[in-house]
Amino acid sequence: MRVLVTGGAGYIGSHVVKLLGERNYEVATYDNLSTGNRWAVLYGDFFEGDLADTNRLESVIKIFKPSVVMHFAASIIVKESINDPLKYYYNNTYNTIKLLRTMIQNGIKKFIFSSTAAVYGIPDEIPIKEDSPMKPINPYGTSKMMIELILKDLASSNRDFGYVSLRYFNVAGADSEGRIGQAYKESTHLITRALKTALGEFRKLQIYGTDYNTPDGTCIRDYIHVEDLADAHLLSLKYLTEGGKSNIFNCGYGRGFSVKEIISVAKKVTKTDFPTEEALRREGDPPILIADSSKIKRVLQWRPRFDNIELIIESAWRWEMKLKEILG
Ligand code: UDP
Repeated sequence: MRVLVTGGAGYIGSHVVKLLGERNYEVATYDNLSTGNRWAVLYGDFFEGDLADTNRLESVIKIFKPSVVMHFAASIIVKESINDPLKYYYNNTYNTIKLLRTMIQNGIKKFIFSSTAAVYGIPDEIPIKEDSPMKPINPYGTSKMMIELILKDLASSNRDFGYVSLRYFNVAGADSEGRIGQAYKESTHLITRALKTALGEFRKLQIYGTDYNTPDGTCIRDYIHVEDLADAHLLSLKYLTEGGKSNIFNCGYGRGFSVKEIISVAKKVTKTDFPTEEALRREGDPPILIADSSKIKRVLQWRPRFDNIELIIESAWRWEMKLKEILG
């Protein structure tokens, strides 16, 4: 089977490309390298290209002839989405519509979509089930929700079209063999920033908000190891190609850690008492996001292997140290 991966040079995409390659799928990456890295693509063909460039995309589809598209290429920074919403509606919504049109026109009928827990906004119930209402509180979440709505309509209008939408919670960790990991030019994620602070790359780690209605006043998130998330994509692929109906799955472990808890594990793992500072809330952050992951376990038989926060942070730490060595 031939799988085209948009954003395959990015953090999550590159882990999925690696797993596809290891399992002997024919894989090709389509990526504009705006935030991804060519060295992160360990398997298959690589095509540099932008999703906005439909001619380029179509020529790649004609050359590679995929039967499935996995779509990772997107902008993902909540704060940036609040300051520059059009960037998010253009990159995440408009470009995905163009991708879907190009796919359909070229007879590709299976689609796996990188969605996000941000579509839930501030959920009424924790843990969050997939049928909880979508009511995002930032343009990033809205840009992804709009595609979910479009996918639903597309699947009802076209019986041959099938999709799986995976709603990622907080992804962290790196490849067990240490070849790939998060390598954004600008990192905004908590675990990455904590580890970079331990390495001395930042002077101190800011805690965004200590007055939330949570036990220690800081936000709670469900952190999932990137290799377990990659596995969820392979299971989705198998499900879709074996005739599974279009579906939506949460990708998280079903338990949460506060910002302060993450900091304390990061200090333990790095054996560094790095400085922290209490700061104002960051706009667009829901207080608690924890997945109900029973559906993906039941329907896809997903069996996570790294459901342990220390293990996740250790894996991210090994990668950060290596990255520092590579980048100097
Ligand atoms: N956070 C923080 N300091 C940082 C980065 C993040 O306190 O330097 C908090 C952030 O406000 C949120 C949690 O950590 O409550 C997780 O944020 P992250 O950006 O990692 O992921 P998100 O949940 O926004 O996708």
